[in-house]
Amino acid sequence: MLRWLKGAGAGRAEIDRMRARITDALWEQVLSTYPFLARLDDGERAELRARCAWLLASKHINGARGLQLNDAMVLAIAAQACLPILKLDPALYSGWNEIIVYPGGFLIPRSEQDEAGVVHEYVQEAAGEAWDGGPVVLAWDEPDTAGQEGGAPGLHAFNVVIHEFAHKLDLRTGVADGMPALQGRPGLSPRQWRAVLEQSLDAFTQALEEIEAQIPPDVDPEGPEADPWYGQLPLDPYAATDEAEFFAVSSESFFVDPAPLARALPRWYAMLAAYYGQDPLGAQPTAAVTTISTL
Ligand SMILES: [Zn+2]
Repeated sequence: MLRWLKGAGAGRAEIDRMRARITDALWEQVLSTYPFLARLDDGERAELRARCAWLLASKHINGARGLQLNDAMVLAIAAQACLPILKLDPALYSGWNEIIVYPGGFLIPRSEQDEAGVVHEYVQEAAGEAWDGGPVVLAWDEPDTAGQEGGAPGLHAFNVVIHEFAHKLDLRTGVADGMPALQGRPGLSPRQWRAVLEQSLDAFTQALEEIEAQIPPDVDPEGPEADPWYGQLPLDPYAATDEAEFFAVSSESFFVDPAPLARALPRWYAMLAAYYGQDPLGAQPTAAVTTISTL
C-alpha cells in the first residue's frame, strides 16, 4: 500500500502524523466545499486523502502578510493541489518545498527589456505563481481557493491552485511550454501532444479573435458588459497567452467544469484525460486515448 511514497518527499512517520491530523470531519468539510470532488469514488477519495497527507508532510505551507493558516485551509489547498496527480506519480511535485499563501492578490515585481534596450520595471498583480524549482504562491481570497460560494464571476471555471500546480507539472521538463513529461503515460507521444496542443491553441485563439471582433465599439471589452461575448468561449481568454497558459487554464476547466472544453476541443480534452488518467465527464480514459490516436 502507498508504494508511491517511497523516495518522494517526507518520510513515513511524518506522513502518518499528518494522516492522523486529517480527521474525518475536516475531510468531509473539504469534500463538501468543492463540488468537482463529488465525482470521485470511495477508492479515489481515500487515495486523494493519502496524497494530501503526503503533500502536507512534504511541503512547508506558510501564510504571508499576516495570514494565519489553519488545518482546514491547508487541507483545502492540498486537496486541490493533489487532484491533478491523483493518478500520477507524486514525485512530479518534488524538487521544491514551499507553498506560500497570501490573504489576497499579491504584486510581483517585473523587469522587461524592450527592443530599444530600455529596461521597464513594473509590478503585476497576481492570484498565483509557480516558480521553476521554487515555491508555489497562492492567494487565499480567490473564490475558488477558499471555496466560497457566489464569489466567482461564473463566466469560466477558475481554480488558482489547479492552475499553478499544472504549471508545476509543465515545469518538470525544465521549460514551461504546455508539454508536461509524458513518460509512462499510455498512448501519448510528445509529437502527438505538440500537434494537438498547437491545433487547439490556434482554434481557441481564432475563436477569441472572432468574439473580440463581434464586441460593439461602445462596449468596454475589459468590463463585465463584455461577458455575454467572452462567455461563449470554452475557456478564459487568458488561455490564449501562450502554450503554458493554455495548458494551465485548460487544466482548471478540465477538473472544475469540463463539459464546455470537451465540446469545443474534444481532441485536447481527450489528451488531457489520457495524461491525467482521469475523465471528469465519466468516460474511461482508455476510450479517450483511442480517440486521439486517430490523429
Ligand atoms: Zn499561469
